[in-house]
Amino acid sequence: MTNLLLSYTAAAESIRAHADILRRQKSSIEKVPLLASLGRVLAEPVLADRDQPPFPRSTRDGFACRAQDLQAKQSLHIVGQLRAGEMWTGEPLASGQAIEIMTGAPVPEGADCVVMIEHVQVEGAMLGLEPERTMAAGENIVSAGAEATAGSTIVPVGTRMAASHIAAAAACGYAHISVYRRPRVAILATGDELVSLDQTPLAYQIRNSNSYSLAAQVTLAGGEAVMLPVAPDQTEKTEALIRSAMEDSDLLLLSGGVSMGKYDFVEQALLHLGAEFFFTGVKMQPGRPVVFGQLPQQYYFFGLPGNPVSTMVTFLLFAQPLIAALSGVLHGEPRFLLARLGHAHRVKAGLTRFLPARVDYGIHTPQAAIVSWQGSGDLASVASANGFVVVPSDAVDITAGELVSVLLP
Ligand code: AMP
Ligand code: MG
Repeated sequence: MTNLLLSYTAAAESIRAHADILRRQKSSIEKVPLLASLGRVLAEPVLADRDQPPFPRSTRDGFACRAQDLQAKQSLHIVGQLRAGEMWTGEPLASGQAIEIMTGAPVPEGADCVVMIEHVQVEGAMLGLEPERTMAAGENIVSAGAEATAGSTIVPVGTRMAASHIAAAAACGYAHISVYRRPRVAILATGDELVSLDQTPLAYQIRNSNSYSLAAQVTLAGGEAVMLPVAPDQTEKTEALIRSAMEDSDLLLLSGGVSMGKYDFVEQALLHLGAEFFFTGVKMQPGRPVVFGQLPQQYYFFGLPGNPVSTMVTFLLFAQPLIAALSGVLHGEPRFLLARLGHAHRVKAGLTRFLPARVDYGIHTPQAAIVSWQGSGDLASVASANGFVVVPSDAVDITAGELVSVLLP
């Protein structure tokens, strides 16, 4: 069997290189109603259809006037009122005049600032600035086109649409929008011990949870999960299922059957089908036996280890960036953040570790607590975690209060 054991860094580099190749290949495009684009990847840029703001916009409730008049401590004559949704149709504002204005209304010609209602004294039709205040030209006005000029790109191609991008597209009048087709990702769990959810497992059997965790992760990564029937630990049947996956999907995720066990047939089946392997192991824990390679017709596959925590971690680190590239996303790297470790932790050196951890977020540095776990088969522990503390391969002791990197789900 092939033996390409890489460091975590080298494996991540290999994934990055292949993701770059995939990103250059254009996938097909579909048009969807704006709200349905949430989480999808933009295939045409969102362009400003006009200047934004389209008019000099008041950002406060107050009075539009000339800063010079206020500096001269002049009392101003209130000559009118303007609401959002209206335009001033009278004469341009002259020196000594003020127009009452609401947030979002277009500032009338002749005015160069808006003084807040809280900062003035009004007596009848006369207005004066509070004695201790000063005002400069431009205050509380966003000039036309200051946010974006007509025709400029507001959201670039390759952006995964979030609420802010939907808002920007709505502001520019996009009722429908072009997104890339979701890549189809086939999921093939292997193992004679597996039973489906509608079966009652015998004492020595376990339920196939990996197909579900992977399908959920594929969906979150922007792919369309295609769940295949479970493959028994047999080369020919595994091969046949891989063949059917190749016909109907853009990427294959296998789970299980990649360790050194006697019945681990996955690599053999892949070899028969002409696979090229980029790595067949990574010096990490969990996830050491993870396999990455390519079948004919540029069809990529991952052989993810069967242990449920390993499956999830190797998906996040390796499969997820490749799905992101297939879906056209510009930046699809795994996400890490820095957190402060609550308690000291000791591990053996030599492997990069990804330890299930509970991260508490706040406005200050997040806090991470490594949860106790029984190793890479312990699904209950990951269910209580919301991230994985990364321990570099050369580290042995990490101390309480140390800043650590956390892999986010
Ligand atoms: P393997 O990688 O096939 O040697 O499997 C390693 C461990 O993961 C074994 O304890 C398997 O029973 C378990 N396992 C394999 N596949 C799955 C699956 N689809 N769902 C849950 N556990 C699995
Ligand atoms: Mg197995």
